[in-house]
Amino acid sequence: MKLTSKFPAFYHKLLPDLVSWEVPDERFADCSNCHLCASDKLSVSTTKCCTYHAILPNYMLGALLSDDEDEWETGKEKIQLKINNKIGVTPYGIAGTPDILEFNQNRRKINTLALPFEDRAKYACPYLDSGRCSIWKYRGELCITYFCHPVSGAHGNKFWNHLFQYIRYIERTLSLYAMIEIGYPKKHLSFKLLEHNSYNFYKKDGSFKDKLYHNLWQQWEGNEARLYKECYDVIVKLSSEQVDKILGSEGTWRYHQCLELLESSKKNIIPDGLILNEAVLVKQLNPNQYELTSPKGQKIKVNIKTYMALKKLDGSKNVQDVARESKLILSLPTRLITQYLNNDVLSIK
Ligand code: SF4
Ligand code: SF4
Repeated sequence: MKLTSKFPAFYHKLLPDLVSWEVPDERFADCSNCHLCASDKLSVSTTKCCTYHAILPNYMLGALLSDDEDEWETGKEKIQLKINNKIGVTPYGIAGTPDILEFNQNRRKINTLALPFEDRAKYACPYLDSGRCSIWKYRGELCITYFCHPVSGAHGNKFWNHLFQYIRYIERTLSLYAMIEIGYPKKHLSFKLLEHNSYNFYKKDGSFKDKLYHNLWQQWEGNEARLYKECYDVIVKLSSEQVDKILGSEGTWRYHQCLELLESSKKNIIPDGLILNEAVLVKQLNPNQYELTSPKGQKIKVNIKTYMALKKLDGSKNVQDVARESKLILSLPTRLITQYLNNDVLSIK
């Protein structure tokens, strides 16, 4: 799979080397047959992994708002609604609000699979429309780089995560460049990454922080969509040489760092035909925990769900099949598969 298929089309001319990378085929993340839809009794089947609020840079918003294809009308309406409500709306781009961070922080504490249907909508991406991404053509950062079960396990997680950081760097740098080019006053520029809590225009009592909004938007206040389109017009005209220069030495380091991680990811692709090694000794420690002793003598403690998931691997299934067939009761991150293969808890049929 080439990265070209992942990036918005206007990036292809700007970042020709990056988008031409051949990345491993993420065959364990079958989005058209997503395991999160395995049970329609679970609210997660309505959002899949889109319980996220993408931070969109100014020029990407301009690209979407300048697109005349009917297919993106809903996405444009959703962006216009954000602009009208002034939610997370800044000249750098559109973020969410600080409560999005609260959900991200709580992800580890709450069982997001078990959320009631009525609560699911609260956490769904605002650009999701009846299970479909309304801004797909112009998605960025994590939406480009997220795979639930990377085929290279921990190596894949590391590569995609660094690529995500690199894309965020590109988005921040190009959005700042565009603002300078359209005449945004340099003395008001912030060089920090745009985050969900960077600007909150609403006080606790619900009143609006007019002064903050006005200082931020300057002469574009009331014409926010115009600024986004002007930024897109600047970026889309750049050559790849100009983009390289704008991204500078940090861009070069990040590019080569991701390339190295990609190479190691390609060398560590999880093979097909996984089974629990017959030579592994299994001892139940308590009703919820097992101890597995590998042929090399390494002892690993696993919970009952992980043990059951390992037993499901019969040489014909991958980790997504296991989650799908068990209706999400069982799941096995591929980073664990890498570890279990390394110490021979798993073998190939
Ligand atoms: S990345 Fe994984 S969880 Fe998300 S839609 Fe694709 S298969 Fe489903
Ligand atoms: S922007 Fe699209 S792909 Fe990204 S989280 Fe939202 S709906 Fe999903």
